[in-house]
Amino acid sequence: MTSPDDIGPDEREPEDAGLEAIFRRLIGATGPISVAHYMAEANAHYYNRADPLGAAGDFITAPEISQMFGEMVGLWLADQWQRAGKPALCHYVEFGPGRGTLASDALRAGEQFGFRPKVHLIEGSSRLRQMQKMLIPQATWHDGLDSVPREGPLLIVANEFLDALPVRQVVRAEQGWRERVVVHNGERFMAVAGARPMDTAVPAAMAESEVGTILESCPAASGMAFEIATRLKAQSGAALFIDYGYSAPQTGSTLQAVRAHQKVDPFVDPGLADLTALVDFAQLKQIALAGDVDCLGPVGQGDWLMALGIAERAATLARTQPSQAQALMTALDRLVSPDQMGTLFKVLAYRGPGWPQGEGFGG
Ligand code: SAH
Repeated sequence: MTSPDDIGPDEREPEDAGLEAIFRRLIGATGPISVAHYMAEANAHYYNRADPLGAAGDFITAPEISQMFGEMVGLWLADQWQRAGKPALCHYVEFGPGRGTLASDALRAGEQFGFRPKVHLIEGSSRLRQMQKMLIPQATWHDGLDSVPREGPLLIVANEFLDALPVRQVVRAEQGWRERVVVHNGERFMAVAGARPMDTAVPAAMAESEVGTILESCPAASGMAFEIATRLKAQSGAALFIDYGYSAPQTGSTLQAVRAHQKVDPFVDPGLADLTALVDFAQLKQIALAGDVDCLGPVGQGDWLMALGIAERAATLARTQPSQAQALMTALDRLVSPDQMGTLFKVLAYRGPGWPQGEGFGG
């Protein structure tokens, strides 16, 4: 028998190797796991480990670039609420609020118009919940939409949330379509075609695709979007989805991993990098149709922010803080320029019955 003290530091599993060891054990004992399973576990581990956001972290999001982003979101919501007749009871609901920066900027901007909703934050990471609590102490935290009150309109925001949800991939192998699964070859994890036929999961028109073709879907995002549509239909209100993604169906894997602001291999060091996949905005539109709510957009983040007046806001801020003028213009450029976040990032809204046309979507 060895006591824990007999184990030298080198033999001890470093804390961060935990997930790798679990995956290896699981795959060894029960066989390959799906890419979706891998991504879900890796991200749950990742978001609980540390604060991933900011210059010292792994990636930066729009609300962390500038307060102007959250302010525009807050103005959009407050405008919706005003034109819907200022319902006394209403709920701000944010999915995956990160550090809470967006919620805090949006609520501050909305308050100037009398918009004072109850605040509900849907967050899976207990570590990030703690950070959110420092900025928005009055909020209530939830694991999902289910426990959010069913009375009063919902004003829902999800920025860079859907991209973190697990994607399922099927790949065209020689023998037909297979789910893409993760194996370990003794040295590393890798994604390969699984054994189980998946031909029935693929649209007929795609059946005879070239070997190696990958089709990606995000059942978790679709399920959540449908749940949101159903709740908006019943309670009214609006939802804003902001993310990077595509507007027409496409093939290929969009799974990527980012660590310390660099792209890395998604199958190396699970749980230590942020795994994301592009959001399928065409699918979000389909779900609005199925859920019988109006869908606005998608429009480019740059066009949407400009239509809401972000350039004017930047000019005002620059006048009151001249020393920050250059930094403000740089932030504005990052948020709206087509070669930065302006086009790849898109904004799509759902609108419940009786709610006004949202600003920034044309028409
Ligand atoms: N919206 C923030 C953070 C984006 S990072 C911003 O723009 O800065 C993704 C966020 O979603 C994190 O807060 C993460 O903990 C949360 N998240 C990821 N998957 C989740 C899930 N399945 N359930 C709840 N929250 C999740």
